[in-house]
Amino acid sequence: MPTPPKKRGRSKEGRRPGVRKKSSNSVIGKEFDYLLQLTEEDTRLLHRYKDIMAQGAAGFAETVYNYLFDNPDIADVLYAYERGGGNIGELVRGMLAHKLSLLNGNIDEKATARSEQVGRAHYRHGVKPVWALGAYRLFLDHLQHLVDTDPQIEQQDRDAVESALIKMIFRDLAVVTEGYWRAAVEQLTDQRDELGFEQGLAGEILSNIPQLLWTVDIESNRISYASPGTQAFCHNELEAPIPCFYAIHGSERERVLTAWQQVLDGESVQLEVRLTPDESEERWFRLAFYPMANRRGRVLRVHCLMEDVTDLHTDRERLEQLSTQDEVTGLANRALWYDRLASALAVARRNPGASVAVMILDINQFKMYNDSLGHAAGDELLRQISQRLQKVLRDTDTLARLGGDEFGIVLPFLQDAERAGERVAGEVMNALSAPFSYEQKELCLSSAIGISVFPQHGEDASTLASHADSAMYRAKWNSVPYLFYEAQTTTSAATEQLSISGQLHGALERKEFELYYQPKIDLASGAICGAEALLRWQHPQQGLVLPNRFIPVAEQLGMISPITDWVLDTALAQSRAWLVEGRQMPVSINVSARSFQSPGLVTRIEQSLKEAGVGGSSLEVEITEGTLMADLDKSARILKDLSDLGVSIAIDDFGSGYISLSYLKRLPINTLKIDQSFLENMDRNSKDAAIVRSIIELGHNLGCKVIAEGVEDEGVHLQLQELGCDLVQGFHISKPLPVAGFHEWLSGSSH
Ligand code: C2E
Ligand code: MG
Ligand code: MG
Repeated sequence: MPTPPKKRGRSKEGRRPGVRKKSSNSVIGKEFDYLLQLTEEDTRLLHRYKDIMAQGAAGFAETVYNYLFDNPDIADVLYAYERGGGNIGELVRGMLAHKLSLLNGNIDEKATARSEQVGRAHYRHGVKPVWALGAYRLFLDHLQHLVDTDPQIEQQDRDAVESALIKMIFRDLAVVTEGYWRAAVEQLTDQRDELGFEQGLAGEILSNIPQLLWTVDIESNRISYASPGTQAFCHNELEAPIPCFYAIHGSERERVLTAWQQVLDGESVQLEVRLTPDESEERWFRLAFYPMANRRGRVLRVHCLMEDVTDLHTDRERLEQLSTQDEVTGLANRALWYDRLASALAVARRNPGASVAVMILDINQFKMYNDSLGHAAGDELLRQISQRLQKVLRDTDTLARLGGDEFGIVLPFLQDAERAGERVAGEVMNALSAPFSYEQKELCLSSAIGISVFPQHGEDASTLASHADSAMYRAKWNSVPYLFYEAQTTTSAATEQLSISGQLHGALERKEFELYYQPKIDLASGAICGAEALLRWQHPQQGLVLPNRFIPVAEQLGMISPITDWVLDTALAQSRAWLVEGRQMPVSINVSARSFQSPGLVTRIEQSLKEAGVGGSSLEVEITEGTLMADLDKSARILKDLSDLGVSIAIDDFGSGYISLSYLKRLPINTLKIDQSFLENMDRNSKDAAIVRSIIELGHNLGCKVIAEGVEDEGVHLQLQELGCDLVQGFHISKPLPVAGFHEWLSGSSH
């Protein structure tokens, strides 16, 4: 009696596909022998009669052939085997040989392994177990007949032989089927391992990619798959169909629902929405929905993908902004300004009576700040200017930086554009009038504004813009804060500026400049105590040109310094000439901001004094408050050096700027020159008179002399005398005169 086999343990180790544990045939064999009660007696009996039972094998072969080919399914498999290069004859011969080998009663390991291989081959070639069963039944029939009828088999052995045969055939059938089954299981295991490996890979990919993926089963409205990232993102609360729905910005949810409706209709949809995951900062996500429909177009599943695209979004926004936004100030740029202007005009055209004001504003002397303080300072100033301008404007107005120091304003939807333009220009001036600060420096600016109005000055954006531009230049030219466009003057003003800038080059070499002198009188004594040198240009075609028309151009063109040098040398030479004639006549020269800030001014003055042979006291330098405030520290150093040379310093047009008194008291200033505007109405306007009185008092308190310029009549003259003003200058005493005229005046006057 065979001993029962030990129970096999199941291997749990994970297997890579293709790597298989070898099956143990000895265990199979023993188990089967035990269960079938196949004994040595059985195998011995079979062995004894094997030759008898092998008789009639040829007849049995024919039976098998018929069986195989009468059964169409089996025949199909055989033909397929043949098409694959197999030989049916050999195959059937092999089957017969295998069956006959059973009659040997051989049940050792080798024989069992061969039988198992047969089962595996059946599985490989698609031979069904039941077909094998059929063949075994035929075999059994054939043998039973032999056992029953063959005379060579002893009568008393017949039952035992038959029983041994049945056990043997059962055993083989079981081993073949086990082989078949093992092959099937191994294939399935391989496939499962393969699948598991691929799933593992997919899982690894899905948990490491930043995109979130999930699939929604539409029928049940359940999430049938959610990638690890999705589960983490939603803290495992996977609400269908969009697990993060409540993190989506409230105003965007409607869009997402519409997109979901579209995907249910079979469309793929993509959209970008704002999300606030975990109440942290808002992020942009791209949601993509891909519908999976059956053949009839019914959507069964939707695959969803979600991706954080905040960086992309910010980059895109930035690019969009760059194309419409000025980088320095963050204001609209020229392109956007034109666009807004065109839209405002379109609206105004549809509304009879509506008008639009277009303003262009340019900062005076901006280049000087940029040159002397550097571009960082220039940019900072532009930012501060834009902030102040923005405060003056309404939300519906458009403020833009058009380039350089030029700003554009569009005032849309107006009833009276001229009044609005005037009001805004006034407010802009006001807003820009207080000093700006940069690195503890106080800087003063002024601006020129040109205004054009729709429909009076033009119909389209470019005409209105160019008219506002020319009005701005005219305002600059005339040193006024703002001007409206005027059809007839524009062309002449613009061409004049152009022709002046062309002819200014070489005017020095051609000796077209001349100095006029205007006397200054001591109010107490009536004595002449100096003269202001005022520049004139003898233009070959236009005759005498006043400085206000060409000094700003010279400044803009960077030609002012050689002109200042010429004025300095000429005025000092004149002072020296008067000295030689026996007249002590100090001269005042006007130094504009750029000349004042340019390096080497003090050395130049020192040199010029030496060349003329006069002392520092023969010279007074007139500068404006604005010039000083361009860079107060630097100004203070220059003034100190000039003062050390004995040169006097006067603040010209005092009262028109915004210099801080605390600065003023620290500077070595000798004279305050009251701005002409306060004298104009002084006899009628008590406020102006009060200002003049205050300036005089302030000057005296600071230890300065005070001079009033622009005195045109006796009344003002007397008033100033009463107020204790020190000096006067003006048409009432004398207009500025050329040297010859000045001499004449000197000899004719009592001074
Ligand atoms: P400013 O230095 O304030 O000169 C005074 C201006 O007032 C002069 O004009 C003078 O002719 C004018 N004026 C004098 N008395 C009266 C009066 O009673 N009534 C009126 N209405 N005006 C009077 P001007 O010569 O046309 O000069 C204008 C400005 O040009 C000057 O103002 C000065 O800022 C600038 N300027 C003149 N010469 C030079 C120069 O050589 N270099 C520089 N950088 N600027 C100069
Ligand atoms: Mg002056
Ligand atoms: Mg003046």
